[in-house]
Amino acid sequence: MSDIRSGDFVECIDDVPYRPESKVMPVLGGLYTIASTRTVDGAGSVRLRELTPTCHLGGECGCGDCGWDINRFRKVYRPGPWLVEELEKPVLEDA
Ligand SMILES: [Zn+2]
Repeated sequence: MSDIRSGDFVECIDDVPYRPESKVMPVLGGLYTIASTRTVDGAGSVRLRELTPTCHLGGECGCGDCGWDINRFRKVYRPGPWLVEELEKPVLEDA
């Protein structure tokens, strides 16, 4: 069982898409914030504050039911100054 909870800082440890329709993926080694966690078919699924997943219905997720496998992430227990700096970088908007 994963100890990842909503609001946790996590690092991506697996960025290989399982399915061809998974276009939006977290970056290996990237740091993210968990927006929510759910269980789908017995497996943990998470949403991230920084990324919107590709939807199983196509395109960017608007249904709110899509996410990434919780096992793609590991919890970052002790955020240091390097992490705060990382999180304070401006978020690039799509043009
Ligand atoms: Zn969706």
